[in-house]
Amino acid sequence: MQIYNTLARQKEEFLSPGSKVRMFVCGPTVYDYSHIGHARTYVVFDVVAKYLRHRGYEVFYLQNITDIDDKIIERAKQKMINPADLALEYKEAYYEDMKSLGITAVSEYAPATQYIPEIVSQVKQLIEKGIAYLIEDDGYYFDLVKFPDYGKLSGRTTQSAEDAVSRIDESIKKRNRGDFALWKFSKLEEPGWNSELGYGRPGWHIEDTAMTEKHFGFQYDLHGGAQDLIFPHHEAEIAQMESISGKKPFVKYWIHPGFLTVSGQKMSKSLGNFITIRDALKKYPAEALRMMILMAYYRSPIDYSEENLRQTEAAVNRLAEFTNRLKNIEKSLLRSSTPKLELIEKIKENFEKEMDDDFNTPKAIASLFDFVREVNPLIDERKISSEDAKKSLEMLNEFDQILSIIPKKSQEIPPEIQKLISERETIRQAKDFIHSDQLRDQIKNLGYEIEDTNYGPLVKKLASP
Ligand SMILES: [Zn+2]
Repeated sequence: MQIYNTLARQKEEFLSPGSKVRMFVCGPTVYDYSHIGHARTYVVFDVVAKYLRHRGYEVFYLQNITDIDDKIIERAKQKMINPADLALEYKEAYYEDMKSLGITAVSEYAPATQYIPEIVSQVKQLIEKGIAYLIEDDGYYFDLVKFPDYGKLSGRTTQSAEDAVSRIDESIKKRNRGDFALWKFSKLEEPGWNSELGYGRPGWHIEDTAMTEKHFGFQYDLHGGAQDLIFPHHEAEIAQMESISGKKPFVKYWIHPGFLTVSGQKMSKSLGNFITIRDALKKYPAEALRMMILMAYYRSPIDYSEENLRQTEAAVNRLAEFTNRLKNIEKSLLRSSTPKLELIEKIKENFEKEMDDDFNTPKAIASLFDFVREVNPLIDERKISSEDAKKSLEMLNEFDQILSIIPKKSQEIPPEIQKLISERETIRQAKDFIHSDQLRDQIKNLGYEIEDTNYGPLVKKLASP
């Protein structure tokens, strides 16, 4: 298997199948509902972990939850509630959102506040080694001069920290511009923990290394997170852990999925294009959202649009419809003289070949649609035996355990409507648009709306008046 490793800036051969994989992915800071950018990141890693397991790796997938942070404290202040209550509310909401997205691969979620002793211990070790220093009334900081390797993941240096994208801690008393907080002293009214370091709370980067050291030790196999975390967050993690352990590399493989934009723009509250996962799922099934995410190579940018989602909704409906047809044949005990579908083996091979190549989901999914295209006519001609249907369903199920793009519940469309829809499709393929439009109107009068997509017609029941 080949994986693109950010640290090596190229594809590299992954561990041999059967190996244990200790995998960590940066989770959310729980001060608000998760948005569709988060959905992208976590769907990608859900598929990564599930595919590795499919390939025989023994994966332990750990994800942190940042449930103490300045953003949480600020938001709680605005809302005039307790920061711990705010964090708890959004942590629960995050779990719900992940569940509705079919994200089930995580072995354990690790909230930062449950790792305070481990965090304190790491900071103490950095102080003892002369790497962390104290700023009075502020906290302990990491001295970047003591870690010359800083920047090896991102190709950036401390001096370019100025244009950093996220959360560089600001204190005018820092020794170097890029130095980051390890432990921040809390004011009495702020949340904090009494520790040997003084009453305070962890900096953002230290929770990850504290919890991975506890679960995995000094070094582990796979670390993931959105691209904007490469710098400074993941550089900081490397600096902390390699300074403490003296062992390199802290992590062997780093995976970073690309960004998600909304109709060509960066998503932000001020632009009014901020879409939460729960809002998206009110309008579209989770399978359609997953399909939209997986139709792009994970390192490429994705542009989210409703148009795009309607396309993928039609695509997942098509898969559901195909599955239903196979189920009917499976039940029918139809015998056929056709030899067993060699196609199944071929598709399986293609699927795995594409996934082995740095999780190329768009190509892997394309091979599933090749299968649909080739088998549908055989079903029409009743050339598929119930045995073959069973095998086909097993293959689809196996791959859907990884992808979760086939809706379990498909909408019931009455047979008479279904018939009109296929009639219209035939007429439309023949480019007789006048008649196909007439049929569309007829179908609409019967309560169903049709939209044509690249994956065939998307049919929706009209809301009853
Ligand atoms: Zn992290």
